[in-house]
Amino acid sequence: MIILLLGAPGAGKGTQAALLNKKYGLKHISTGDLLREEIKNNTPVGKKAAAIMESGALVPDDMILGLLKNALNAGGKGIILDGYPRTAAQARELDRLIKAMGEKIKAVVNIKLSEEEIVNRIIMRRQCKKCGNIFNLRFMKNFDGKCPKCGSGDVYQRPDDNEAAAKHRLEVYRAQTAPVVEFFKDKDFYKEVDGIRPAEKVFEEISKFIEK
Ligand code: AMP
Repeated sequence: MIILLLGAPGAGKGTQAALLNKKYGLKHISTGDLLREEIKNNTPVGKKAAAIMESGALVPDDMILGLLKNALNAGGKGIILDGYPRTAAQARELDRLIKAMGEKIKAVVNIKLSEEEIVNRIIMRRQCKKCGNIFNLRFMKNFDGKCPKCGSGDVYQRPDDNEAAAKHRLEVYRAQTAPVVEFFKDKDFYKEVDGIRPAEKVFEEISKFIEK
């Protein structure tokens, strides 16, 4: 079973993927996370990807494909794909991969949010280096500089979450990723959800759709 999460950067795909993982045990594959892991491990792919990602552009397909195939092969029976496909070419490639695996798409969920809200959310997003928790200062009353999950003070902002890179990512999204929806929008497994609501409400709607 494969679930695709579509939506602009900052729309909440990672948050929903984590909730889906918790409730249904599906494996979360984020191509952004796979690339960040390569950067952390200083691999040849990571070295090439770092500057591209920091600028907010997309990395070339051939750099992603190997990582994606490995992750899909190791993914088992239930997968949530977050951050792929991001172009029409990737959508066609994914179709081939899914067929070759003998798998099927169970749901494509497109999380919609206004561009203004997206930029606001991206620049307020932070991650804890210690436990990996991703949280948003926009939704916190008091922020004491510590991770709300584990209390570590080692909290940072992703290098591509500054305003300039966020705006560029949004342009890239508009030009290259938003059209991907054409591949799915007429299918009965396609669903649009309004991402402005609290994450639990968005998740409720997604859960109902998946279970129907
Ligand atoms: P994300 O964590 O999904 O916001 O991705 C962060 C960055 O990783 C993007 O801005 C791109 O530079 C790169 N990236 C992630 N997924 C893809 C993809 N499917 N195709 C090309 N670049 C990607």
